[in-house]
Amino acid sequence: MIPEENIIEDIFDVRNNPENYDNQDLLNIISDMLDVAKRDKYFANNLKTAIHNKREELGFCPACGLDDLVPKYNYETHTELDGNPREKMDYPYCPNCGWSSEE
Ligand SMILES: [Zn+2]
Repeated sequence: MIPEENIIEDIFDVRNNPENYDNQDLLNIISDMLDVAKRDKYFANNLKTAIHNKREELGFCPACGLDDLVPKYNYETHTELDGNPREKMDYPYCPNCGWSSEE
């Protein structure tokens, strides 16, 4: 896991388990962010990648952050099977920016 992913996980952990953190802990987390930002010359790019991955994990559009992805459908033809049956595949699609997880 890249340090930028750890930052995001820390922030979500603060949100999900606020009773585990006092002000000193929050200051330490912010201080850790500063250390990572200073050490990693790719900080901005890595943080962007980490946010992208976290959005996708949580079901948001990884590209624009919309929380209302819709399913789109595609059909995969199985030429290896008798009769070449078609399998319906669904994948998330963003109606706002056009992102989809289809490869
Ligand atoms: Zn989007």
